Amino acid sequence: MSEQNAAAASRNRRGDSGEYWQALSERRLIIPQCLSCGETYFYPRPFCPFCMSDDIAWVSASGKGTVYSFTTSARAPQFKVPAMVTLDEGPTLMTAIEGIDPASVFIGQKVEVVFAELADGTVVPVFAPVAASVADGKSVD
Ligand SMILES: [Zn+2]
Repeated sequence: MSEQNAAAASRNRRGDSGEYWQALSERRLIIPQCLSCGETYFYPRPFCPFCMSDDIAWVSASGKGTVYSFTTSARAPQFKVPAMVTLDEGPTLMTAIEGIDPASVFIGQKVEVVFAELADGTVVPVFAPVAASVADGKSVD
């Protein structure tokens, strides 16, 4: 195992988010769900932020969401459109928009998860517009 892969593997074993990073390495997006109140949330925590129950489980996210906010960073070496995306399941996560001209991104745009690999091998969730959303530059509600 290379030093970079060892760093990524180490990151994947981190405490409360270990399963999250493991799923990402398999290009699956999962989020925690409270088994007491049913809410999904993000970031990973060992208890529900809505009702404080520690009866939680990981569930698969649809991977579909909506751009809540974004900015552009032309000089960034990777991820030139940092963004907040609200998943259809409810939670909002810090991510980036890829696969589109930064000038074409808009708040309310429908996006879906794709995965990007960092230099150390860690897989992270980023989002790309759904095809219909790109075609007309408008939301497809
Ligand atoms: Zn709860």
